[in-house]
Amino acid sequence: MQLPHDLLEVSTPGDNQAPGYDVNDPNIVMSLRRGQAARILAQLTRVEETLNRLDSRGFGVCTSCGKDIDEILLKKDLTKDKCASCMESGENNCENNSE
Ligand SMILES: [Zn+2]
Repeated sequence: MQLPHDLLEVSTPGDNQAPGYDVNDPNIVMSLRRGQAARILAQLTRVEETLNRLDSRGFGVCTSCGKDIDEILLKKDLTKDKCASCMESGENNCENNSE
């Protein structure tokens, strides 16, 4: 016996399906992959910028104040383009918007 589609829908009273994302939903998987790809692309862009600075001998030099970036910071992250004090002041600027 075959039931018409609209009758099938009516015959399931109450919503037993939990709202949220289905991990098997290909659209969700795609958007997760897109997020991953965006992150990797952003990383690649930073590496490319670092390589450009190496070419122009600007590597290890703060792009804000022109001072040398601390070697310890560079060893942690070779793509760093700002010295410690500029990074700190940059962060402070974001937080202190009291004016
Ligand atoms: Zn600086």
